[in-house]
Amino acid sequence: MTEMPKFLQEVNGQLWLVEDERENMKISYRINKVIYSEQSPFQHVMIVDSCDFGNMLVLDGVVQTTSLDGHIYNEMITHIPLSIHPNAERVLIIGGGDCGAAREAAKYPHLKEIDMVEIDELVVKACKEHLQEVSGNLSDPRVNFIFNDGMKHVKEYRNHYDVIIVDSSDPVGPAKALFERSFYEDIYGALKEDGLMVCQSQSPLFHRDVMKQTFDNISDLFPVTKPYYATVPTYPGAFWSFTLGSKKYDSVHVKEFDKDTRYVNQSILNSCFDLPAFLRLK
Ligand code: SAM
Repeated sequence: MTEMPKFLQEVNGQLWLVEDERENMKISYRINKVIYSEQSPFQHVMIVDSCDFGNMLVLDGVVQTTSLDGHIYNEMITHIPLSIHPNAERVLIIGGGDCGAAREAAKYPHLKEIDMVEIDELVVKACKEHLQEVSGNLSDPRVNFIFNDGMKHVKEYRNHYDVIIVDSSDPVGPAKALFERSFYEDIYGALKEDGLMVCQSQSPLFHRDVMKQTFDNISDLFPVTKPYYATVPTYPGAFWSFTLGSKKYDSVHVKEFDKDTRYVNQSILNSCFDLPAFLRLK
């Protein structure tokens, strides 16, 4: 019999995934079975079949995305920037190993290149095979998979990309550098003179320091800085923030949103920067 991954617990004959990265909060999901479990050079990669969320991607014991609600996050991190930039051709996605953001970006026929720089090839392999509700049948020839550290990749480019989407995991391990100021400086340099970026900036309830620091780092560099949020049941607290930094464009230009989506629509685009009072940072 194969050994049970260390992030799972058996309680009264039931299998549970217990996310316990926070001191005062543990989130438990009942699991039907483990579908994939491997240790990569970077992290433990697992796909589980959960009772309520369908298949889930779990990295080092932390849920990243699920069949049930992955579309909310992936649509919001992709369609907002691509509805603001009026004529993007080159897009870079950093992280995003579940392929959900690349799948959404591929819905824009005017994009010529979608570079996806993911540090861990095993995440892409596992999600393409076992998490197709999120990854889709992604075989668009414009998507270039580059297996490298996103931090190194952006240093190699100047004035190259129209839109950069930072779809990283939490700021620990290989993703820690993706929350540092020098990384945003390199992103600024890799963008064209009218380019824009977006990153996930964690929970406004539980990681307010990270959200605030991300806002400060981006607003020191970019003339336009706009946080927005979505409700993603999988993430602690369900509120999840994104922060947009733009060199030029500051509002959605799309008037008739026509992509095949389940969360983003024209009303969401029109109101995405309307924030609850507690979420306004300035
Ligand atoms: N939506 C998810 C969330 O907010 O939790 C994250 C999506 S995606 C699975 C995050 C990806 O970032 C992971 O596959 C991880 O391997 C990748 N990653 C972490 N650090 C990275 C780095 N330095 N360069 C490129 N990819 C990185």
